[in-house]
Amino acid sequence: MTQPLRIVIAGGGTAGWMAANLFANIWKNSPVEISLIESEDIGTIGVGEGSTPTLKRFFQTLSIAEHEWMPQCQATYKVNIKFNGWNGDVHASYSHPFISQLDVFSERAFHINALTRRLGLNVETRPEKFLMAGYLAKKQLAPIPSHNFPFAIEYGYHFDSMKLGQFLRNFGKKLGVKHIIGNIESVETHANGEISALTCTDGRRIEGNLFVDCTGFNSLLLQKTLGVKFNAFGKNLFNDAAVVLPTAPLQTMPVETESTAMSNGWCWQIPLRNRTGNGYVYSQQYQSKEDAERELRQRLNLLDCDVEAKHLKMRVGQCEKHWHKNCLALGLAQGFIEPLEATALHLVQVSIEMFIDTFTKGHFSAQYQDTYNKDISERFERIRDYIVCHYKLNGKRDSQYWVDNRDNMHLSESLLSLLDVWYRKGDIVEEIKRQGIGKHFSTTSWHCLLAGYGVFPPIALQQPDSLKEKGDLFEENKLASFFSRCSLNFEKQKLLFQIA
Ligand SMILES: Cc1cc2nc3c(=O)[nH]c(=O)nc-3n(C[C@H](O)[C@H](O)[C@H](O)COP(=O)(O)OP(=O)(O)OC[C@H]3O[C@@H](n4cnc5c(N)ncnc54)[C@H](O)[C@@H]3O)c2cc1C
Repeated sequence: MTQPLRIVIAGGGTAGWMAANLFANIWKNSPVEISLIESEDIGTIGVGEGSTPTLKRFFQTLSIAEHEWMPQCQATYKVNIKFNGWNGDVHASYSHPFISQLDVFSERAFHINALTRRLGLNVETRPEKFLMAGYLAKKQLAPIPSHNFPFAIEYGYHFDSMKLGQFLRNFGKKLGVKHIIGNIESVETHANGEISALTCTDGRRIEGNLFVDCTGFNSLLLQKTLGVKFNAFGKNLFNDAAVVLPTAPLQTMPVETESTAMSNGWCWQIPLRNRTGNGYVYSQQYQSKEDAERELRQRLNLLDCDVEAKHLKMRVGQCEKHWHKNCLALGLAQGFIEPLEATALHLVQVSIEMFIDTFTKGHFSAQYQDTYNKDISERFERIRDYIVCHYKLNGKRDSQYWVDNRDNMHLSESLLSLLDVWYRKGDIVEEIKRQGIGKHFSTTSWHCLLAGYGVFPPIALQQPDSLKEKGDLFEENKLASFFSRCSLNFEKQKLLFQIA
């Protein structure tokens, strides 16, 4: 690089500050200047409180220890998502635990049992019975084992998103990121269409070579200025709004997010140290804002309480290109998939990490822009499919919303093919390999969803005697005792925090 690179990040939500920190960290010894401009008037979205295990890598990259950030962000550990009431009477709930190293001992039994069950034999297929994180979630144990425990456990976090934003802002400033408060009024472009500068309402002009659009659903740079098209996922995913209400912290401190089916969507429960986050994600086509708020209040026993609810609109879909000319979009500005599996920050982080790799490989040029765009789009689509599958398989009959979701035939080729293999009792492990989609959701995650939901043919009338005598591959007593012995190495997270 002959000239210094001036990166201007527009927007100071979680996406903007995650990018600022990772860029400042990786290019600390390169001639790269990073500025971040944010508006005090517009504010951030202020939700987004659950993560996948990928976020652990984010803090490790920046050498930030858990005791430095978790207490400041009221954070708790997360090892599982528990889905309540999504399949009518079949399974009252099922789990999607994060997959750990230790699960090599039991994953195969899970896959084989699911196939056996698809063939009509009555064997155990509940995901939480086969995976260590399912066991930890049930016992409410934090995923931090004692020192001599020889396996790594995967986990994510719950956190207060506003506080995480403040933490990352302070950390980024220490890494040398220039912080500018201002309202961007206009975006200037060169004759070749590349962005040259941002102008604020007070007349300040911020020039740069690379611009990062983190302006949230506004997408001021990529969509509004450069005119990149937004492809909505509305035909696949109906939810487009949310209502949020906090409640007191839970007495016990669960290590899982609960996602409970409601009349026209679902509601999250996220345990933080100082409060519980609750939000109802629904479709405005099927339910009014007022009715959604009433339903959430009723569920939380807040009907006669004047705690103010926050209403949000969601724009679900993705930009046709995530990096165009000299502008990269991240976070809500690049696209959004509803938060059922808490994948938004995961996508932000992966987009930043891949950008760093691609940009560096291309010697700080746009040489590999097309490959990058293709890869990120694919990630959005495959994550969308996994979420769509939750809705497609629902067994609820209490509203038109659930019926329409079940009847919805806007499914991708990839998802159709997976469901076809599953229903035809084919080899789903091979199918995931064939499609090369295991990096988005693993084979075991797909089993959690399909087997957890109980998508099986009726049990055969005659069950072989040998099943009872020999026990199936699950070997309930052996696995339960294995997990139970492992769990002696873990403690409740409340105790851990007191130590910290
Ligand atoms: C209901 C809901 C639930 C969610 N749950 C989860 C979850 O559990 N897990 C998860 O990972 N994600 C979740 N998300 C997504 C998550 O909230 C976002 O991905 C994340 O907060 C990043 O947002 P952002 O930084 O892109 O945008 P924002 O937070 O909206 O930030 C936008 C920034 O741009 C600035 N800005 C905008 N316009 C201008 C302007 N003209 N001039 C100057 N500055 C400007 C604003 O000041 C702000 O700083 C959820 C989202 C919703 C809607």
